[in-house]
Amino acid sequence: MIVVGAGIAGLCAARELATAGRSVIIVDKSRGVGGRMATRRVGRAICDHGAQFFTIRGRAFGAIASAAHAAGRAEVWCDGFNRAASVGDLPVAAADGHSRWRGTSGMTDIPKWLAAETPGTTVRTGVRAVAAARRGDRVVLSVEQDGVVESLSSAALVVTAPVPQALDLFAAGGLVAEGDPQALAALGTVAYDPCFALMLELRSASLVPSPGAIQFAGGPVSWLADNFQKGVSPVPALTVHASGEWSRARFDSEPDAVADELVGLVRPWLDGDPATAIVSRSLQRWKFALPTTILPTPLVAVSAAPPVVCCGDAFAGPKVEGAASSGMAAARWLLRALAAG
Ligand SMILES: Cc1cc2nc3c(=O)[nH]c(=O)nc-3n(C[C@H](O)[C@H](O)[C@H](O)COP(=O)(O)OP(=O)(O)OC[C@H]3O[C@@H](n4cnc5c(N)ncnc54)[C@H](O)[C@@H]3O)c2cc1C
Repeated sequence: MIVVGAGIAGLCAARELATAGRSVIIVDKSRGVGGRMATRRVGRAICDHGAQFFTIRGRAFGAIASAAHAAGRAEVWCDGFNRAASVGDLPVAAADGHSRWRGTSGMTDIPKWLAAETPGTTVRTGVRAVAAARRGDRVVLSVEQDGVVESLSSAALVVTAPVPQALDLFAAGGLVAEGDPQALAALGTVAYDPCFALMLELRSASLVPSPGAIQFAGGPVSWLADNFQKGVSPVPALTVHASGEWSRARFDSEPDAVADELVGLVRPWLDGDPATAIVSRSLQRWKFALPTTILPTPLVAVSAAPPVVCCGDAFAGPKVEGAASSGMAAARWLLRALAAG
């Protein structure tokens, strides 16, 4: 079996397939695993710059989170964040008693743990899938690594890349012409908001109130988190997420100008003049940050024989838990399709 994407959806799909006795190859174009569960070092700081926390509502993902917790890789952060209407407004504490979880040393802890703790699975990073094609009862995935193209053949394929990237893969291999037209039309409706994530290493503690994060309902900034209070950074450090609308309007702007503007917006939460308060900074531009359309089913099958299935956070439930649940559902569907065929 081949899985495209070593984010939480791909890793949970692989875990399900491996538990059923299948051997799995996961390919991911990035250098590491985790996808949008991403953690980065900025100077001496550690910053989560994609997903910031996760919640647990269902049993299947709950079992994975509990196992990660038992292995020391996931912790409860808090039971709710401060909320404000916009970045210029005063936040109010808004705990609701429902646990918000984090990776113990950053959000990548959980995907890293899953990748290491799933026997029967080989994870190949730095490998970009470029085309998916049907050849009789097999799927052939063309992948590229360091300029070398290779063909991987499999009885089935799970694609967890953001949907526009999945469609590119199918178009390049002829699956858009040969696949289920209804499924492809549904996939064509999925869109995402972009997001700029600014990470700041600070000289002294930020002024963000406990437990170290503010959610903004509107305006240019959607989220502000203190990675030191959160427990992942050894030194004071902030993560700032710009809203989808704000990020889209500046998507192709010069990164330094975007970072300067974001620093200006969060200045009230810095201890002093930004010129001295900020030790180092890094800007990440997420093109496909959060889906703005969620399809009603946990997976979409582009082909039944051989099974080719799309899943991830745009399917039935968004965010980390939604993506994980979608990955598991896709793997179960694929196993049933293979058993029936
Ligand atoms: C800024 C931001 C903030 C967020 N905040 C939260 C939050 O606080 N809580 C929450 O629950 N969720 C949050 N999310 C959403 C959450 O991160 C995602 O819903 C979830 O991680 C999606 O997982 P996934 O496996 O579906 O996709 P991804 O994590 O995107 O994984 C897909 C993988 O596919 C790989 N890939 C893509 N194309 C190819 C290709 N051609 N070949 C090989 N590999 C490929 C990518 O490199 C990636 O690793 C946030 C996301 C962002 C960006």
